[in-house]
Amino acid sequence: MAIERTFSIIKPDATRRNLTGKINAIFEENGLRIVAQKRIWMSRAHAKEFYKVHAARPFYNDLVDFMVSGPVVVQVLEGENAVARNRELMGATNPANAADGTIRKLFAESIEANSVHGSDSPENAAIEIAYFFAGNEIVG
Ligand code: ADP
Ligand code: MG
Repeated sequence: MAIERTFSIIKPDATRRNLTGKINAIFEENGLRIVAQKRIWMSRAHAKEFYKVHAARPFYNDLVDFMVSGPVVVQVLEGENAVARNRELMGATNPANAADGTIRKLFAESIEANSVHGSDSPENAAIEIAYFFAGNEIVG
């Protein structure tokens, strides 16, 4: 299986509760390497652009408000089948539907404040990584 990269965000609900290390441990214990990472406070314009695919959804404005409500940790994760593997580790969008042991089952507060973002395809991973990181910030 090919080594792949995916883009991850530890969201404001998780940074607020000091969960960065616990979430990173789940990645590292499950074969994903953190090859880039920085803690930032996203601007509203940046958050709106990042989630523009959801612009028509009723939760869009609330989602943008939430994503700029505190700092986030943006990351590049690398490993075998990293996009799908990370989605498995994250669990379902709604924590009520997330499998036991997943990050969202363990930590999410709600369907909105669900602790982590992960790319949904290798194509989107490449776009999202380039949106937050320069090439020389990613060190495998
Ligand atoms: P995922 O993050 O699992 O890929 P989506 O891409 O569908 O989920 O949605 C992006 C984010 O928007 C979710 O992670 C969550 O924070 C928020 N969201 C999704 N659906 C809802 C909803 N019905 N109500 C409120 N927020 C939502
Ligand atoms: Mg998504």
